Amino acid sequence: MTEKMVYMFDEIDPDEFDSTKELKEFFGGKGAGLANMTQLGLPIPYGFNIPCKYSLYYAENKSWPDGLKDQINDAIHKIEEKSGKKFGDPDDPLLLSVRSGAPVSMPGMMDTVLNLGMSKDITKEMAENNPRWAWDSWRRFILSYSDIVKGTGREPYDEIMDDYKKEKGKKLDVELDASEMKELSDIYLEEYEKLVEEEFPEDPWDQLYSSINAVFSSWDSPRAKAYRKMNKIPEYGTAVNVMRMVFGNQDEKSGTGVLFTRSPMDGEKKVMGEFLENAQGEDVVAGVRTPMSMDDLREEKPEIVDQIYELANKLEAHYKDMQDCEFTVESGKLYFLQTRTGKRTATAAVKIAIDMLEEGIIDEKTCITRVEPKKIEALLHKRVSPEESKKPIAKGYNASPGAVTGKAVFDIDEAIEREENGERIILVRKETKPEDFPGMAASIGILTSRGGKTCHAAVVARGIGLPAIVGAGELEINEKDGEAKINDEVVFKTGDLISIDGLNGDVYVGEVEVIDPEITGEFKKYLKICDKYRKLGIRTNADTPEMAMNAVKNGAEGIGLCRTERMFNAEDRLPKVVDMILADTLEEREDALSNLEPLQREDFEGIFEEMDGKPVTVRLLDPPLHEFLPDYKDMLVEFTELRVNGEENKRYEELNRLITKYEELKEENAMLGHRGVRLGNTNPEIYKMQIRALISALIASQNDGIDVQLEIMLPLVSHVNEFTRLKNMLKPYAEELMEDEGFEPENRIKWGTMIEIPRAALTADEIAEEAEFFSFGTNDLTQMTFGFSRDDVEGKFLMKYIDEIMPPIMKDNPFEHLDEKGVGKLIEMSVDNGRKARKESHDEHLKIGICGEVGGDPQSIMFLQKADLDYVSCSPFRVPVARVAAAHAAVKEEDEE
Ligand code: PEP
Ligand code: MG
Repeated sequence: MTEKMVYMFDEIDPDEFDSTKELKEFFGGKGAGLANMTQLGLPIPYGFNIPCKYSLYYAENKSWPDGLKDQINDAIHKIEEKSGKKFGDPDDPLLLSVRSGAPVSMPGMMDTVLNLGMSKDITKEMAENNPRWAWDSWRRFILSYSDIVKGTGREPYDEIMDDYKKEKGKKLDVELDASEMKELSDIYLEEYEKLVEEEFPEDPWDQLYSSINAVFSSWDSPRAKAYRKMNKIPEYGTAVNVMRMVFGNQDEKSGTGVLFTRSPMDGEKKVMGEFLENAQGEDVVAGVRTPMSMDDLREEKPEIVDQIYELANKLEAHYKDMQDCEFTVESGKLYFLQTRTGKRTATAAVKIAIDMLEEGIIDEKTCITRVEPKKIEALLHKRVSPEESKKPIAKGYNASPGAVTGKAVFDIDEAIEREENGERIILVRKETKPEDFPGMAASIGILTSRGGKTCHAAVVARGIGLPAIVGAGELEINEKDGEAKINDEVVFKTGDLISIDGLNGDVYVGEVEVIDPEITGEFKKYLKICDKYRKLGIRTNADTPEMAMNAVKNGAEGIGLCRTERMFNAEDRLPKVVDMILADTLEEREDALSNLEPLQREDFEGIFEEMDGKPVTVRLLDPPLHEFLPDYKDMLVEFTELRVNGEENKRYEELNRLITKYEELKEENAMLGHRGVRLGNTNPEIYKMQIRALISALIASQNDGIDVQLEIMLPLVSHVNEFTRLKNMLKPYAEELMEDEGFEPENRIKWGTMIEIPRAALTADEIAEEAEFFSFGTNDLTQMTFGFSRDDVEGKFLMKYIDEIMPPIMKDNPFEHLDEKGVGKLIEMSVDNGRKARKESHDEHLKIGICGEVGGDPQSIMFLQKADLDYVSCSPFRVPVARVAAAHAAVKEEDEE
């Protein structure tokens, strides 16, 4: 028997699949939704599904498996039986929609053909009863067939439509009457034949087979591929759903709409939707006309709205999550066409998760998983300050939150080009179309003059977390000339700075003052639940009291890394560091160090105060000394000029000394050079100064009643002896300083190191016998494991490895996402060996954290939880992201057990 390749919607039994995920992977999201809706008894147009795997078959073989065609033909006959209509019969034609449906939603990326089965003869018959509808449907079919199946794009037809309306003095498509629609469809048909260079296919079966192939192929369109890559969607293939057409453009009692069972913007518990009278689904999504709200619709058609609400709530109760549905009303009868989990802003995600928990619909663990960790960053987005004196020039729909300032760019290619040159772009368009995606992804914000909250620009921006304003109708946008006008006056042009606030929809010319967000309300509750479940501790990388304060506000439980070299960068401090570097003798150097000591001490006191009672890991000086000297080339130019001009003055002498010192200190591979404990071992006076500053800050803070939990970290150890020698020198020194002040030094300070060189990872057992804690520095560890210079590769070739070379050499940037096979292996090994060795020699837990850049990355946190680390440390603003990611990791691990 040939395998079953075509499933009528009522032949799919969702209970035969272990999970919704598996159901979706087989039939696609739309197919799964249609099967569920059939089971729940919702009114849906009858039809069938061809599962995802057959699009992969088609991609590989450019043909169909044996038997597929027969099964499709049988399925069409079943729709004919159920509807009483006949495919290709002019008297009562069965018309179809052919819809793509991938396992995960890819808004606007995949193709759909509507009104299939029409021809000019069929249309003439249909026009007997309802001419406007018939000719409108026919011209739409020509357009969608030409665009999707023949790949001509829709622009030529849109232009014809715009010109035609202008000629007739009409603004909207609905204002065109039947004879005008007929005339327009003739012009479309001519255009088709001109563009495609063949006649329009009359045979509905040919139309059907070609459309199915076009939908199969849409999986591999460049824009779909780009979207998959950006969102890391696996190669599932797309299913095809063939359904009886229901017509939202049939008459005044018809229309089409989309709804969310709760607000996708702020999560309010209220069905939110948009409805376009006398229109087909594509009109809503394309944002061509401004739709009416559910409240407006209620005034006109209260019974339909009641029915929509009832069915929407039924769907939400079934899925236990907010749904995004498409529906059509055909001559007063309601049909649901699609349901899927609704995309939402981070604010809405948190509110819906907490509300559903409090309504008893979901449990705490599900509540945690309802908010993607990477979305949390959007909640931490900036807003335009209420104090800002600049007035907005226009207002649109607040489609996706965040306030940004960037250069206005009206053209997709230009946006991509400018972004590659490092410019920050706000893409300004009338509306966006699926093929604009690469340009949108290259921008930091989106502004359109058309569309509502469910239009393409809004959905895509929310999906990729870009601030966006849509439907700012006062703006007249001219994409060709690159300018935006209000009342005929140019308000900004290509390259001008503009600002948008996606939280409230305000558009500004120029730069504005933005403020940082606060953690309040539901977000606080949500984070509290995350903290209850997570096992990993969350610390922060902070070098100043202010960073420490922000991190504590965001929930940091300590400092995992305070980079002391960053404390010397202030303008008034640098000359003091230069003095230290230029010192020729030990005495001179100690003298210079004594000027730095009070500054360090002051900072440490500030940090201890902010972190009262929480651990603070302070890393002793790490970078190469010559980094603190002025730019070598600048010094050389100035020096040469002085010499040529015969001005061999004091400045000349100073430059001479600086240049000589620079050349003495400079290394070919500074990253692998005289830094960290190597510098500490050769010049211990530097670390001794830092110890003095730390101890005096500790004593002063303790005397002020602050509980200081100090951990001193020695950086860049590769051989255990580098660590042991310094510890044996600095620990007694610190203890002596404390004793001199009458402090009991016993175990007050912990001594540890950073594992950031592969040799240290390989000898973690030896180091663990000496060190009380480890923290992985994945920035250097990645650099040295790959042999990638961390200052160079991203600008030179790494991005090409990831984005340009096909198939890509690497999937992710290992400086951002933990490289599990290399660096990850080293981490797992050092954790195991280190813990074992410490237990054998000290019977004490070895505390292990991570403080490289990957510490705030959700994907990496999953791995680190499995590797049994005690904490991750990340930048202050990423602390909430890490809290959520760690909770996700814990829930996932529990579920796996
Ligand atoms: C590291 O190497 O991962 C690290 C945290 O240290 P730095 O970035 O200061 O080299
Ligand atoms: Mg490092």
